[in-house]
Amino acid sequence: MSQVKLQASELSVNYGPFTALEGINMNVKNGELVVLLGANGAGKSTIFRAISGLNKPSSGEVHFLGKEINGLSPDKLVKLGIVQCPEGRKLFPMMSVYENLHMGGFVLRKSKKEIKESLEYAYDLFPILRDKKNQAAGSLSGGQQQMLAIGRALMSKPKLLMLDEPSLGLAPLIVNQMFEVIQQINQQGTTVLLAEQNANAALKIADRGYVIENGQIVLEGKSEELFNNEEIRKAYIGA
Ligand code: ATP
Repeated sequence: MSQVKLQASELSVNYGPFTALEGINMNVKNGELVVLLGANGAGKSTIFRAISGLNKPSSGEVHFLGKEINGLSPDKLVKLGIVQCPEGRKLFPMMSVYENLHMGGFVLRKSKKEIKESLEYAYDLFPILRDKKNQAAGSLSGGQQQMLAIGRALMSKPKLLMLDEPSLGLAPLIVNQMFEVIQQINQQGTTVLLAEQNANAALKIADRGYVIENGQIVLEGKSEELFNNEEIRKAYIGA
């Protein structure tokens, strides 16, 4: 459990003159489920994009399994084992569920056997995807599209799965189901970094969390500590 998988050190990102992230220090250890909590615009997606090479940090470093990964292209990161499931899902709406899943595996899963194995894993996690495998992704409900996005991200068997706001726009019942499956994915061996506004749901399944405000980490700790923290409850849980 103690081996650090992902380490961001003094990470800062600017959008022109605007400082979106300042001096972010965070890590995810082998096997953990870690959540980044923060309101709209706090900087969670910017952290994700800086880790996954889509935003160039103005300073700081990101290490994955001891190797510096700053500046690596997203496909190189997939090869190293980092897969991001972005906010808004970014599916191919005209393509079928099966084809969308298949796209997730093509960089790394070469043999038919490997692809079939990953497909079966995704279908077992989300049986509705098996039922709808020939349907266009765009015809699925919001929750089913989110399941497909997570299933697609898992196709390459990532060492680190990064999920950006998987609960966005989903009904409460579906959110609970989604978080149960995310916990299951983690318990089956995939390290997970989750960005969420839904602190209540996320802290129930996470090991640890970081709270982001205005591009800075203002609090970090074990999930139960954050869950019982009065400030956090007032700001994010509403109790
Ligand atoms: P959300 O849930 O809304 O995505 P977030 O915590 O992920 O919130 P970010 O998307 O990382 O927040 O945004 C952090 C800050 O950077 C916000 O103030 C946002 O307006 C700003 N920002 C994000 N992307 C850009 C961009 N491409 N150009 C300029 N400013 C940006």
